[in-house]
Amino acid sequence: MQQLIEVARQLLTDKVVDVVIGYEQGAFGVRPAFISDVASCAQLIFDNRCVHNLVSYLSPRRTHLAHFQRKAIVAKGCDIRAIAALVREGQLKREQIIIIAPRCGGVGRNASLNKPQQLEVNTVAPRCANCTVREPRAASAKDTAEHKEILADYVVGEVQAPPPIAVDRDARINALDAMSIQERWQYWQGELERCIRCHACREVCPTCFCVQCLADKTQPQWIESSPHARGNLMWQFNRMMHQAGRCVDCGECERACPVGIPLSLLVGKMAKVVKERFDYQVSSDPTVPTPIGTYNQEDKQEFIL
Ligand code: SF4
Ligand code: SF4
Ligand code: SF4
Repeated sequence: MQQLIEVARQLLTDKVVDVVIGYEQGAFGVRPAFISDVASCAQLIFDNRCVHNLVSYLSPRRTHLAHFQRKAIVAKGCDIRAIAALVREGQLKREQIIIIAPRCGGVGRNASLNKPQQLEVNTVAPRCANCTVREPRAASAKDTAEHKEILADYVVGEVQAPPPIAVDRDARINALDAMSIQERWQYWQGELERCIRCHACREVCPTCFCVQCLADKTQPQWIESSPHARGNLMWQFNRMMHQAGRCVDCGECERACPVGIPLSLLVGKMAKVVKERFDYQVSSDPTVPTPIGTYNQEDKQEFIL
């Protein structure tokens, strides 16, 4: 990915940015890289193991990166939605960030492989199904300032073939919807009983940006913090409510979960409800307000007694 390396070198040489957040080969597959010197730019890679959504490193709660004033980030077309989410919610200014967007042929679920492998139906990340943002566009002089907000600063790499389509998540959500309330309750109790409260789902999430999470507060304690069925349900359902209309559907929470809880079914269901009720879908345009950040008298409110 010579083009990516060249762009990173130029940005650091010209002191446009202090750091380039990207991917590098580690001892166990691909890992995030924080490149702040020109010589290290050669370490940057991009291939179908680069599943991580690096935008979580732009969140204000990443205080260990605060000393880098100006950042460039390698962001796939889908990751740019998370940048838009942070801009929309006042957590980031678009002009503070340089977006280097690679053309993408899909990513696999497993970043720990030593080299890229052909993506298959059961190895491709679910988010890649029917992706429309694989080939991001760089802003040009013809674009308006508002339009430029949602475009990349640099697009790198060759045009890629589309990835295979993963198992249909909607079908799994519909199967859960078809269950009785009791059956569904039992299903989620069973799944969430396995939660070990590591909070990895929160740590990887680009839109979980609170410096102190509700789940960590002890005075008063809102959510039981030990891994206990009741506290686990409260933890995950609270997280989902906070994500309603904000989640960018990157699937990172499910990928990070060490016990394999199917969190993407919860976020997928939340996205469906938000679409039905508010006609809102996650957007790469930071000027489109989310339902959680707006009030409309026409909103359906029949659930308020
Ligand atoms: S959703 Fe699209 S842009 Fe994102 S990794 Fe998959 S194919 Fe690439
Ligand atoms: S899919 Fe998970 S990690 Fe990604 S934005 Fe939604 S809640 Fe956060
Ligand atoms: S990552 Fe999985 S195990 Fe850890 S807190 Fe989240 S749901 Fe629980």
